[in-house]
Order: sequence, then C-alpha cells, then structure tokens
Amino acid sequence: MIEKKYQFWFCTGSQDLYGEECLSHVAEHSKMMVEELNRSGNLPFEVVWKPTLITNELIRKTLNEANMDENCAGVITWMHTFSPAKSWILGLQEYRKPLLHLHTQFNREIPYDTIDMDFMNENQSAHGDREYGHIFSRLGMERKVVMGYWADEEVQKRIGAWMRTAVGVIESSHIRVMRVADNMRNVAVTEGDKVEAQIRFGWEVDAYPINEIAESVAGVSQSDINALVDEYYEKYQILLEGRDAAEFKKHVAVQAGIELGFERFLKEKNYQAIVTHFGDLGNLQQLPGLAIQRLMEKGYGFGAEGDWKTAAMVRLMKIMTGNMKDAKGTSFMEDYTYNLVPGKEGILEAHMLEICPSIAEGPISIKAQPLSMGDREDPARLVFTAKEGPAIATSLIDLGDRFRLLINDVNCKKTEKQMPKLPVATAFWTPEPNLQVGTESWILAGGAHHTAFSYDLTAEQMGDWAEAMGIEAVYIDKDTTIRQLKNELRWNQASYRR
Ligand code: MN
Repeated sequence: MIEKKYQFWFCTGSQDLYGEECLSHVAEHSKMMVEELNRSGNLPFEVVWKPTLITNELIRKTLNEANMDENCAGVITWMHTFSPAKSWILGLQEYRKPLLHLHTQFNREIPYDTIDMDFMNENQSAHGDREYGHIFSRLGMERKVVMGYWADEEVQKRIGAWMRTAVGVIESSHIRVMRVADNMRNVAVTEGDKVEAQIRFGWEVDAYPINEIAESVAGVSQSDINALVDEYYEKYQILLEGRDAAEFKKHVAVQAGIELGFERFLKEKNYQAIVTHFGDLGNLQQLPGLAIQRLMEKGYGFGAEGDWKTAAMVRLMKIMTGNMKDAKGTSFMEDYTYNLVPGKEGILEAHMLEICPSIAEGPISIKAQPLSMGDREDPARLVFTAKEGPAIATSLIDLGDRFRLLINDVNCKKTEKQMPKLPVATAFWTPEPNLQVGTESWILAGGAHHTAFSYDLTAEQMGDWAEAMGIEAVYIDKDTTIRQLKNELRWNQASYRR
C-alpha cells in the first residue's frame, strides 16, 4: 500500500563546550540507541543514525537534507547534552516534515557511587531538552514530545505509533480521490471545500462521468469475471436464501465485473480512493457493493453518497495502518440505529452495503437482496459481523472557516442476538464515555453519520495527524463531560479564527 521504504533520521544535539571526549561518547551512545531501536521490533520503520548536531550550519544543513530526502518521513531529535537552542532556529524554520522530540537519557539510573561533574555535563537531557523544547514553543511549531527510557518497550511503541502518524502526514499529499458521483442531493455533512482540502491535506479530489467507469466495467472479459466469481465462491459462504442458484451467481458476477473494471480504471488514472452514489449509477447494473468492499480490503479509500472527505480519511487511515502485524481492520462506517436497553446501550453500525471485510470476525457470506433505495437490480454484498474490542470512529467536517476532526473512542461488542434478516455487514459499539454523553458530544461538535473507523489507530495518533495538518481535533473519550466539551468548542472557535 505504501510504495516508499520510509526511514526516520535520528539526530542528537550537543555542543563542543565539553570537549572531544564528551562528543565521542555522545556519538557512541546515540549509535547504540539507534541499533537497539531498530532491533527491538517495536518500530514499523527504520531509524537512521546521523552525526551529532553541534552548530547552526550543520543543523540547518541536516534538516534541509531531511526535507529533500524522499524516503525520510521525519526526524527524531534528542539532546544528549546541552545544545543552545538559538542554534536550531534557522534549521527548524526551514524544516517541513514531522518531528519527534524524544525526551530520554542514555543511562536509566543515576550512578550514585561514581557520579561527578563530568558525568553531569555529559548526561544532561533533563536540562538540554528543556532548552530545545522552548524554541519550538517560541516558534509556534508543531512537534511530538515522547518522554521515557529509550530501551523501554512502551516508549518504543509510542515512537512506533508516532511514525505511523508521520507517514500519514507525508502520504496525505499523495491521496487522490475519484468522484464518479456528486454528493447526495440536499445532504450537508458530506459536503466540503475541495480547494481548502487540497491546501490543508494535499488531497486531489477529481470528478469523472460515471459512464466512463461503467465503460471500463463493460470492457472486462467474461473469463476474468468467471475467474473472480470462482474465487468468491471459494472464499465466501453463499447464502441463497431461496433464490435460484444460477440467477444468484449472475448477480455476483455483476459485482466481479465492477471490482475488476473499477480497479483498472482507478489504477490507470492513479486514484487511491473513490466515492459512489446509489442515485447516480449511469450504466452500472448494480450499486457497487461486494466490489467496493473488496476494493476497501485491498487498501482503497471509500465514501458513499459522494462523501469524498470520508473516502480520503479511510484511505489515509489504511495507509497509517499499512503492514501492521495482527491488524484488526479499518473501514468506512455509518451510524444506523440504537439499542437503548439499560446496560446494553450501543449503536448498530452498517451501511447500505459498503463495509470493509478487514474488520470481519468469523465467516463472511455473500447475499443478494433488493436495495430499498434506487432503481437497480439486487446487488450482491458481503455480510459479516465485526470484531470486538476498542477502536476509534473519526469524522472530518467542514465548518466553513475550517475543518474539524472528531475522534471518538468506542468499544466494539457482539450484539446480544443475531440478526438473520439483516442483509448487511454490521458492527456494534458503545461510544466513550457512554452512549448518552458520547452521542450528545458528537452531535454538539457537528459530527457526521459517516465515519472512518479503525481498530488499529489511537485517538492520539489521529489527533497528532490533525495538529500536524493545522486543523482542529476534538476528542470524545472517557474524560469527556458536556460542560468541558462545550467550553472547548467555544475556545477552539476563537483559537482557529483567521
Ligand atoms: Mn451513507
């Protein structure tokens, strides 16, 4: 999904006040740390050691080289000794990529028996990292600060999580969304300013006539369709539910043609996300259901009813979770209906069809059923239920003068009973801090009914991404209260005024 082999540069700050011997220790220590970080298995990308930064000139040169290096997705900085922060001003002003300030030190414990003034001068991150951190605050620059002992798993995992955010920041400007339908008539929350989205996030959002992609679908050969249908029949359970087997297979074959035709068209034109609209299908025989579900599983972003913001967010979050071991899945999602029984409160999540099978647990089945909307033949779709566990639901909305990203921690559960008559994939979750405060907060903050959902990212990662993009992030989590949230929204309104 990510073509580049991203790396992160490890830059250690110091100065020449304490002599050559001290500087040789600094270099030795930072090399050991980089080696151990790479060996740990806790980082999704490689760390590359860089020579100790001690002068204005070298800092400026190194940070500009990081800007220019296509494989460098960010810089990790740490002040081993004291590095006067005026030396960093020019370099930081010119630096344009994500930056992590790792606040750590080489030794874990104070060496009580041997500590002297030389040791203190050589190992003064507590001192040097404060001077260094100050200049970011003075410059008003975004950066991530992670504190802790560098060899600890938890610290390494936080660095690893930030790396995924950094790659999301870098890769955001390579996301291209194909619109083969406009936004659904009269719907507000899926709308937005595409120019501002390109300025902020680097997203290209372009329209194509639906019949151009329908032509690509019509051009798929029968033998390619048959081969893919065979693959479906091998991989998924077939739930005829009283339909004729041959007729059912024809419905499935239409989706196979859509999957192949869409993917070819997207590849040919270099798009990584797509939107559709059930009311604007041109010459397509069915609403893309199973086809879109399979494309999402392959890593494409998707938004229904023309929702290009959510399509781009789904793609972004799939990039951020790329190559993750034991990933539980990332999908487009929609809030549908509530369970309001005390103690069992939650939201049933689904869509007309288009939920990504990466979030499925247990068997995945194909069903063909009528849509209650639109005027096409019954689309085939994949039906399953989602995994249990903590996850996040995000919604990017356009407030007219700015974008806001809502991030809600949610807990996914199995529904109490099965729903045999429901012909769509579902998830069921209770938002934090509970259904009442979670949904009241969501509505007060203007969140959409469409979300980009993931088990594999945290609110911290998405909030850091939003901050890097210079947009507002609103968290709804276990600490949220309505009074605090309303104040936060008021203060943000003032803070983001241009
Ligand atoms: Mn929808």
